[in-house]
Amino acid sequence: MRRDHIVIEGARQNNLKNITLRIPKERIVVFTGVSGSGKSSVVFDTVAAESRRQLGEMFSWFVRNRMPRQERPDADVIANLAPAVVVDQRPLGANSRSTVGTVTDINAVLRVLFSRYAHPSAGEAAAYSFNDPDGMCPECDGLGRVARMDVGKMLDTSKSLNDGAIRFAPFGVGTFPWQLYAESGLFDPDKPLREFTPEEMDLLLHGKGFRVPRRNRTGEMGHNAYEGIAERFHRLYVERGLDTLPDRQRREALAMIIDAVCPACRGDRLNAAARAAKIDGLGIADYCRMEISELITVLDGVDDPVGAPVAQAALTRLRRLEAVGLGHLSLDRPTATVSGGEGQRLKVVRHLGSSLTGLTYIFDEPSVGMHPGDVARLGELLAELRDRGNTVLVVDHDPDVIAIADHVIDMGPGAGARGGRVVFQGPVAALRRADTLTARHLRRRTPPKRDVRRPAGRLTVADARTHNLDGITVDFPTGVLTVVTGVAGSGKSTLVNHELVPRHPEAIVVDQSPIAASRRACPATYLGVMDHLRRLFAKASGADPGLFSHNAAGACPACDGNGVIVTDLAFMDPVTTTCRACGGSRYRPEALAHTLRGLTIADVLALTARQALDVFPERPVAARLRALSDVGLDYLRLGQPLTTLSGGERQRLKLATRLHRTGALYVLDEPTAGLHMADVDGLIALLDRLVDAGNTVIVIEHSLQVIKNADWVIDLGPGGGKHGGRVVFTGTPADLLTATGSITAEHLRRHLR
Ligand code: ADP
Ligand code: ADP
Ligand code: ZN
Ligand code: ZN
Repeated sequence: MRRDHIVIEGARQNNLKNITLRIPKERIVVFTGVSGSGKSSVVFDTVAAESRRQLGEMFSWFVRNRMPRQERPDADVIANLAPAVVVDQRPLGANSRSTVGTVTDINAVLRVLFSRYAHPSAGEAAAYSFNDPDGMCPECDGLGRVARMDVGKMLDTSKSLNDGAIRFAPFGVGTFPWQLYAESGLFDPDKPLREFTPEEMDLLLHGKGFRVPRRNRTGEMGHNAYEGIAERFHRLYVERGLDTLPDRQRREALAMIIDAVCPACRGDRLNAAARAAKIDGLGIADYCRMEISELITVLDGVDDPVGAPVAQAALTRLRRLEAVGLGHLSLDRPTATVSGGEGQRLKVVRHLGSSLTGLTYIFDEPSVGMHPGDVARLGELLAELRDRGNTVLVVDHDPDVIAIADHVIDMGPGAGARGGRVVFQGPVAALRRADTLTARHLRRRTPPKRDVRRPAGRLTVADARTHNLDGITVDFPTGVLTVVTGVAGSGKSTLVNHELVPRHPEAIVVDQSPIAASRRACPATYLGVMDHLRRLFAKASGADPGLFSHNAAGACPACDGNGVIVTDLAFMDPVTTTCRACGGSRYRPEALAHTLRGLTIADVLALTARQALDVFPERPVAARLRALSDVGLDYLRLGQPLTTLSGGERQRLKLATRLHRTGALYVLDEPTAGLHMADVDGLIALLDRLVDAGNTVIVIEHSLQVIKNADWVIDLGPGGGKHGGRVVFTGTPADLLTATGSITAEHLRRHLR
């Protein structure tokens, strides 16, 4: 058997129709097709799952016995696999020690540069690490921020000590600490604090190291160590932490605390020696605070024979970050604050740094959050991975990503049971001539909408300066569909989420953030359909409604109603296996003994929303299921765990519960994420219906299809970070066609050529 293809025969996982497929190795292979057509079933549930399972088999008997048994994907043959690395949009972790610089290992390179080349040198490389005791600021343990007592909250300076100037109850009038201040003779207890001299105030807050007289409970005089309010609060509540306190006390103490920049390192996270070490007047923390594009310029200037080779190593990585459109980030940016798409591109860059070859890299929609201008550069990086002897599989819908493929596998023709087949495979040029849904959309060159709606009024954001915004004033027209565009980092989400939304608190923000929910949450529970279903089952069977809930009495005791057992492995991704007791149905046998319209409750949860509409035409159930169709999610199964939804699917599911308003302001962030071009048409129709029902809709989008269908476009730029933050264009999509100085306009023109 030839080894230059991954060979799959008789694949039946999920909706796959017994398909046979040869995936060329050491190529960029893009999988396309409408949502639910089976792309993930091939790439994640068959290729990646089998690769992970075979890798597991290689462990020793000892380790394997401690790992859950992984199921073999449903296929007759899966051959010629390589170890698979999945690069997805899952968050990089909210650990405050994790920054862009640490996850890309660029900080490590800079530390070497400083240890060899800075003056005065702080020592070896660890002395520049805020995650190492040798380098970290002792005051904040390398976090750059400290919790501090908030004097303004603690003291009411219009009052005297006797009148209750100390607001914190455990230090209030009559308590032991209060006696230290009011009865020590140090202060006039009847003088309002605002009349205290600076020396008195300092003594009240920070005095310590001496004893003061104090009357004990029996009236006898004694002496006690004095400790100022801030000192005492810090020792008792900040240093010890609040975790062990009872709820109410914790809340009281928390109310007195602010999270402030560390006074010792001023946020640099490093100790004095590391901060003193400079190269051309800049410390390592200054490097980390600069935008990556700026840092590149600085490092380019290092021409010393000792420093230059190390600077080159850092530059290689920094240029890759810039190449994926992350030049606007800084190395000190906590990874917890980067978006899903940005996080995925950070992972790409991390893998590019590795010298492994012969792997299969799997990317889940890498174009999310990317302006068409950035996608071309992403293509170069994927090509770099390929040229090192790796296979690159990409699930994406973006025409610009499809264009960089060596080979396209188009799944379809429809979704769910109507999909699961390979409808085309071959080079992009051949796809463009093919007769599939994807091909037809690729050929489409619809011009921008001309008959735009007239605005009813406007919402103004004046003098916006958050993050990189350059004091801009922007009018958002009401009663129309507005699209906010611009390259990554230009300031779109800052303008919309940090400036517009807080000024309009009733705005309905529909974002891609995780839906806080357990593994047991599913579309049926989220939409409230589950309650109706349980009642219908209860009525038909005479049993209690709780029996039909996998959250309650009906839950399979072995898996607690999850249907799966998740095992955390220290050294790998967690492994999920189907519960053997209930076979994944989530229910105990008693619940499955009852049927309604020929189906058990588990059968019902296995239906897609579309199928369920035929079985449950009654109003409350059908109305909610129809909302799922409205947002293009009727291929979802009623019981599919919400944890398995993509960011775009989550956003559309949230939208499904917030339709049918009028006079509202809807704000969406890249709602087309995860949508095939054919599904985007449906989404645009939905947005149009929202506007026609009297709402204002504002979306942040990169999809040219959506931009062309807007009534109004606000384009930010011209670049990212400090090269952005300005309004480059406002007007109708037709006017955008002739705009100058707008990268978005250039892409629109190229697309229509
Ligand atoms: P795509 O990646 O093209 O959007 P998927 O491969 O995720 O499509 O889904 C193909 C079909 O398989 C859909 O009908 C989907 O509902 C179903 N499906 C996906 N994952 C599962 C699963 N874990 N269990 C059962 N059905 C699934
Ligand atoms: P866009 O939405 O157009 O991609 P953003 O509004 O996210 O752009 O970012 C605009 C600028 O603000 C960028 O330079 C970005 O690094 C910065 N920025 C965004 N969020 C934060 C944050 N939480 N902390 C610091 N800077 C931020
Ligand atoms: Zn510090
Ligand atoms: Zn179970």
